[in-house]
Amino acid sequence: MKRIALVAHDNRKKDLVEWVEWNHKILIEHQLICTGTTGTLVEEALRKKLDLRDPREFRMTKLKSGPLGGDQQLGAMICEQKVDMMIFLWDPMEPQPHDVDVKALLRISVLYNIPIANNRATADFLISSPLFTSKYVPQVKDYSAYMKRFAG
Ligand code: PGA
Repeated sequence: MKRIALVAHDNRKKDLVEWVEWNHKILIEHQLICTGTTGTLVEEALRKKLDLRDPREFRMTKLKSGPLGGDQQLGAMICEQKVDMMIFLWDPMEPQPHDVDVKALLRISVLYNIPIANNRATADFLISSPLFTSKYVPQVKDYSAYMKRFAG
């Protein structure tokens, strides 16, 4: 079971919901982690697709809305290595009030070497990769020298 983060900016939410609908049979087998509004839409889409009445059937962690701290909560989970991959459809055409949080989230995802899809094509590649169904532990660069930089 993978722990999959799903986040979409407002202009990309339709895209993400379509992608979730298309892949619902696969996604329902995994743990989903979503920012608030994205999570509500994904939950609705999955419930409709699967005709499940009880929302507790979903393995979904719903964080705060992105601009209200959800991106930072997700970043913290990535630091704790509680996220296996992230589908983050960010908006390339509109400035975001939480731009610094978005940047921080992308930075920390690269640092912890988790697979990230920022568009649907990459999301398609990720979900159809043989590595999606096998155990994969991303290698994180060794920062021990950095941690000892003030050691005497
Ligand atoms: P939202 O947050 O899912 O609550 O809209 C997404 C984001 O902008 O990070």
